Amino acid sequence: MSSSSSPALLKETVLSVHHWNDTLFSFTTTRNSGLRFQSGQFVMIGLEIQGRPLLRAYSIVSPHYEEHLEFYSIKVQNGPLTSHLQHLQVGDTLLVGRKPTGTLIKDNLRPGRNLYLLSTGTGLAPFMSIVRDPDYYDAYEHIVLVHGVRYVSELGYHDDIKETLPMHEYLGEAVQQKLRYFPTATREPFVQQGRITDLLESGNIERELGLPAIDPLHDRVMVCGNPGVLADLVEILHRRGFDEGSMQKQGSYVIERAFVEK
Ligand SMILES: Cc1cc2nc3c(=O)[nH]c(=O)nc-3n(C[C@H](O)[C@H](O)[C@H](O)COP(=O)(O)OP(=O)(O)OC[C@H]3O[C@@H](n4cnc5c(N)ncnc54)[C@H](O)[C@@H]3O)c2cc1C
Repeated sequence: MSSSSSPALLKETVLSVHHWNDTLFSFTTTRNSGLRFQSGQFVMIGLEIQGRPLLRAYSIVSPHYEEHLEFYSIKVQNGPLTSHLQHLQVGDTLLVGRKPTGTLIKDNLRPGRNLYLLSTGTGLAPFMSIVRDPDYYDAYEHIVLVHGVRYVSELGYHDDIKETLPMHEYLGEAVQQKLRYFPTATREPFVQQGRITDLLESGNIERELGLPAIDPLHDRVMVCGNPGVLADLVEILHRRGFDEGSMQKQGSYVIERAFVEK
């Protein structure tokens, strides 16, 4: 179905588009069989605009084994790419880089007990890939997916995580036993409220879920969020004795920015 447009870029076809609200949408595309990636990685994607490719980094929402690719996107007003991307239609062409990469992968962490996936906004994207990867359920006792947003309408994938994933043909049982979902809103009433930083500091996440307090000796953390929250979370993790993992050296936590402030 898909073919290469240049040595660097693949041309994929948009298969579906879903708008969550005025600021967020998801879409799926065909996947070139040569495109290999690990769940949690990101890739450059974009559109040809005025005859030239305009590309941005995007986390891949779909797990590594899925036949199609899926992405979760912000709509930035006047954003060079997303002002066009938000108008994607089924059948349109998406440009996809050939070299997925990124630090949010299991191999960058030492083996551990519980895995905490801490995200804000579109930082959820790489973790949607991870919570659909059976390897993670084999590796950890619990996977805790925390998603912090301002408004409840920004909780993309909420129903997929709560309703659909536990019924998944192959993963359902592992999901029911091991996945704990912790969505939280900061600017309107919701079951869980408060900033991820405060929830981590206070130990409320583990308490609510009936899990032991987060411990760098046993637990592992992945963080993907806006640059401000990321800096604050890293500060808290370091204070608690967590060390950063990378391709060169395994650690007890890894981070990726959900976007770059320009
Ligand atoms: C490693 C990595 C992975 C990324 N993965 C995703 C992803 O899965 N989904 C996604 O929507 N974006 C993701 N981004 C951001 C993405 O690369 C673009 O910045 C975004 O698509 C907007 O593009 P733009 O050209 O319209 O505006 P840009 O000129 O790129 O951005 C303009 C401004 O918009 C704000 N902004 C950009 N992206 C976001 C965002 N995601 N959430 C909130 N504010 C934002 C920032 O203030 C930025 O300065 C990722 C970025 C990095 C570095």
